[in-house]
Amino acid sequence: MIYIFCAPSGSGKSTMVNHLLTNHPNLFELSISCTTRPPRGKEVHGREYYFITVEEFQDRIKRDDFIEYEQVYEGLYYGTLKEEIARIEAAGRQVLFDVDVKGGINLKRILGDKATSIFICPPSIDELRRRLEGRGDTSPEMIEKRLAKAEEELSYKPQFDRVVVNDDLHHAFTQLDAIIGESTK
Ligand code: ADP
Ligand code: 5GP
Repeated sequence: MIYIFCAPSGSGKSTMVNHLLTNHPNLFELSISCTTRPPRGKEVHGREYYFITVEEFQDRIKRDDFIEYEQVYEGLYYGTLKEEIARIEAAGRQVLFDVDVKGGINLKRILGDKATSIFICPPSIDELRRRLEGRGDTSPEMIEKRLAKAEEELSYKPQFDRVVVNDDLHHAFTQLDAIIGESTK
């Protein structure tokens, strides 16, 4: 099974994905995307993302290297390489995707029953703002851009296989563990 995680930025997608990776290091592996945005905080090339230039990104589009890609924010491209799925499956692990909402819907359409799409929902927009500000690694301008986009992203929630409301963290982990348990039966 492949799991696709989507949510407005700051809702807790990375927290959910890291929960699975920490508890099941031999079962899951995160697909590393390409992006044209610069590294943030302690991010490392080849760990969080492959950080590439716009020219390289466009070159890879031409070579048909991406299973999907999006201009997630103005001028910033993000894309999933076909070879990531092959790499992770060859290692005998299940692929986790952390992608934007439109990318997630596209991946689910392409992968069909092989994938479960999971929408991580913030308890409210106010709480989303608090979390983005609390994370302390995103500029005020980017926080406003992300919040402006969140309302639209929330409207895509019904298109997902499963929804996890990330209010109390422990409760959200329990919901996620139940989803993973169900689909590994
Ligand atoms: P995303 O990957 O969706 O952008 P993160 O996982 O980075 O979001 O979470 C955004 C911030 O909110 C982080 O600082 C994280 O520690 C915090 N956070 C995540 N889940 C919760 C929660 N249930 N309650 C409070 N803070 C949370
Ligand atoms: P961030 O800049 O916070 O790391 O990511 C911004 C958004 O881009 C997040 O919603 C993240 O899930 C999304 N994203 C990351 N990689 C990809 C990808 O390969 N494809 C798409 N469509 N979105 C991605």
